[in-house]
Amino acid sequence: MTIFSKIIAGEIPSYKVAEDDAYYAFLDINPVAKGHVLVVPKKEEDYLFDLDDGTLAGIALFSKRVATAIRKAIPCKRVGVTVIGLEVPHAHIHLIPITKEADMLFTHAKKKFEPEEFKAIAAAIAENFE
Ligand code: AMP
Repeated sequence: MTIFSKIIAGEIPSYKVAEDDAYYAFLDINPVAKGHVLVVPKKEEDYLFDLDDGTLAGIALFSKRVATAIRKAIPCKRVGVTVIGLEVPHAHIHLIPITKEADMLFTHAKKKFEPEEFKAIAAAIAENFE
């Protein structure tokens, strides 16, 4: 079971922003920007492009809804999209609110937030999720 499957199962806590039958979205715990969200399929698969076509198409559409909510909740120009996947072997899409290119850089120092701040960010995105 991957760490993200444990999060989905509620065995490890997360700052959830959205969920449906097939996907789960939560705040990245080491965010490159305020409102940095991970979207994962509930089905365990390591590599994004090994997902079956239906799940891959579905995660794009689910991410669109999450990105729309992020853009409403967090001041930004756009929501950037990245897939890395070198750290956690469970496919995931990074959604990152950005105002400039450098906001997407994973090599920058990560942002720090208190648990209460993470909670408030997740709640603000969740409120705007449709
Ligand atoms: P990567 O697999 O390279 O895309 O990186 C995995 C991402 O997952 C990193 O940005 C981590 O900060 C994030 N991450 C790892 N464990 C957790 C966790 N328990 N809760 C939230 N985010 C996590």
